[in-house]
Amino acid sequence: MITPFTELLTEERKRGGAVGAFTCYDFETARAVLDAAHSATRPAILLISKNIFSAPGGEELVAGIRALANQVPTPTCLQLDHVGDIKLIAHAFANGFDAVMVDGANLPLEAHITLAAEASVLAQRSGGSTEVELGQIAGDEDYSAGAQTGALTNPDEVERFVSLTAPACLAVSIGNVHGEYAFPPTLDWSRLEAIRAKANVPLSLHGASGLLDGDVRRAVLAGITKVNINTDIRRAYLQATELAFPQVRDGWNVRALHDRQVEAVSRAVGAKLRELTPTQV
Ligand SMILES: [Zn+2]
Repeated sequence: MITPFTELLTEERKRGGAVGAFTCYDFETARAVLDAAHSATRPAILLISKNIFSAPGGEELVAGIRALANQVPTPTCLQLDHVGDIKLIAHAFANGFDAVMVDGANLPLEAHITLAAEASVLAQRSGGSTEVELGQIAGDEDYSAGAQTGALTNPDEVERFVSLTAPACLAVSIGNVHGEYAFPPTLDWSRLEAIRAKANVPLSLHGASGLLDGDVRRAVLAGITKVNINTDIRRAYLQATELAFPQVRDGWNVRALHDRQVEAVSRAVGAKLRELTPTQV
């Protein structure tokens, strides 16, 4: 059931867990995420990259995924991932996205604030929400290569940045990167604590695929309410494709291939959802 982004996060924050946000490249990955979320009775966010949305058929794919999400009782929503183009942000809100990840991290701080504030006005007009990033989470969203940490979030900038840009969620850069990690990741826990003390909105952690399981759990306990997962999804999808191929080529059975892909991605999503579930006291 499509549920507002803000509601997903505020409800989860009260419960003390985190909402998993999973990148969906096609109908199969979206089905897998929704199957896993439904089985676990957990909320989930369906992330779509700007490259997928902008490609031919992208708007129709978003409409289809949204229709699919509305058939599943568990609360979900669609978010356009990392986008810095204000026209594309407006287009996203007009085409079924509930939230956008506004990416102005490569801009000077004041230009970044202007972009994020403009996006926030567009979001309010359409009943949607924005997520913003302070500092820079390095790495690529579609291609995994060893990435080194980008600029870390400065806790002293958080209050002003959030008050001027009015996001529903703030993404932190505390040693996390998109894709594969060039070096074993070391998260800056005291920085996270300082950011948490200054931000009056839910926090998100991107690039969770390469982190140790214990680190993800620790981040949730330290106040992270949204965790983005991408590389683990692509790995599960492509490994399942490779493993299934020798069998499905007998009869060129595309449907059987899709079933194997959905099963594998659903298992990977289910494992992540368990890590993000609030600890029972
Ligand atoms: Zn990201």
